[in-house]
Amino acid sequence: MTGAAPADTPANATVHVSGAGPAGLSAAITLASGGRAVVVHERAPDVAHRFHHDFQGLENWTTDGDVLDELAAIGIRPEFEYAAFRETTLFDADGREHTYRSDRPFFYLVRRGDGEGTLDRSLARQALAAGAELRFNDPVQHLRDGGIVAEGPHGSDVIAVGYVFDTDAGDGAYAALADRLAPGGYAYLLIHRGRGTLASCMFADFHREREYLARTADFFGERVTFSMRNEQRFGGTGNFRPFRSVRRGPLLYAGEAAGFQDALWGFGMRYAMVSGHLAARAVLAGAPDRYDEDWRARFGGELRAGAVNRFLIERLGDCGYRMLARRLDRAPDPRAWLGRHYRSSLGTDVLYPFVRRMRPWPRDADHCVMEGCDCTWCRCTHPQPQP
Ligand SMILES: Cc1cc2nc3c(=O)[nH]c(=O)nc-3n(C[C@H](O)[C@H](O)[C@H](O)COP(=O)(O)OP(=O)(O)OC[C@H]3O[C@@H](n4cnc5c(N)ncnc54)[C@H](O)[C@@H]3O)c2cc1C
Repeated sequence: MTGAAPADTPANATVHVSGAGPAGLSAAITLASGGRAVVVHERAPDVAHRFHHDFQGLENWTTDGDVLDELAAIGIRPEFEYAAFRETTLFDADGREHTYRSDRPFFYLVRRGDGEGTLDRSLARQALAAGAELRFNDPVQHLRDGGIVAEGPHGSDVIAVGYVFDTDAGDGAYAALADRLAPGGYAYLLIHRGRGTLASCMFADFHREREYLARTADFFGERVTFSMRNEQRFGGTGNFRPFRSVRRGPLLYAGEAAGFQDALWGFGMRYAMVSGHLAARAVLAGAPDRYDEDWRARFGGELRAGAVNRFLIERLGDCGYRMLARRLDRAPDPRAWLGRHYRSSLGTDVLYPFVRRMRPWPRDADHCVMEGCDCTWCRCTHPQPQP
């Protein structure tokens, strides 16, 4: 690759971005809209190569404002299919059902993949329309002279395994909090307009993914009236590794490449798009130092609170999940209650340094134990060389 420009070079130099995920494409939209030449290098032949048209939730509880308004403010138009979910059903560790409603959406359901209507296709179109160049089948070893690194997860702290399928069932969003279904995490079933996603999102015991997924399918099968047709299995990983600084010389890291993901539940799309924008804005301003200040101000407190919450929930196990469900039952607005627990507070600020020390990030070495294993964790942590 030639002509790469440092993140802090003259205003007319081309900016190079590695990775055409939500973080890289959001950065490209901001840069191109700001008049900078930008090239996005993507190693895969198209966008969203690691996704399978599965539904994901664009969370809408960590801020008072709506996530779609925040995206509009950073130049991303909601020209992808989405559905607002104001009601969600949670099963606690004893299988008890809790239904939560809010006037405002808990989250927006979006689809991830390379097809029409997906978040990824829409972001790519918006980046192109703004004037960015997208180069597929173009892996980057290292942005030698600087730029924005948005290459997604570099490790696996969490995995999600599941099925995408067709169904005749009505729309609904269901989650289950029980270690026997998803150790340390949650199982979910999302159905919208005849398509469904069922998955176990696990934070430990990754090699037994098949067992947990089978239990998850049985669990929802017994409690929700739905059937799966044309089901296809999928799996993927994520990482949440809070760094103090996500600037390495002339390189600015964004999205999951920077470890930006909610440590409690693994939500990362919103942080990816917002961080991509903030990195690009710092480049446009010729002030890369500003990026660290900006992301810390926007969501540093949320990431710290998420890490502390994860630490606590892992220690409490199913007992913690029961407490969480009961507290949500009593909350006049469960969405607002959830949001409050992502605010930085004296408690999270005091606990966070301790949590950072206690939690062995990265903890990959704990898990890779089976030679030739093809579980999601092994496949994603030791990817095959690209063709
Ligand atoms: C199964 C699953 C379910 C999820 N569910 C949710 C959810 O419900 N809500 C939510 O908010 N988040 C969810 N997440 C997390 C969310 O998908 C990610 O946080 C988000 O996609 C991160 O965006 P990104 O742009 O940082 O990385 P990615 O989306 O991973 O994009 C990175 C891109 O960089 C490319 N790349 C990698 N290396 C190179 C290289 N060397 N050169 C060039 N290109 C490269 C990759 O091919 C990829 O296209 C889920 C994740 C998984 C796996």
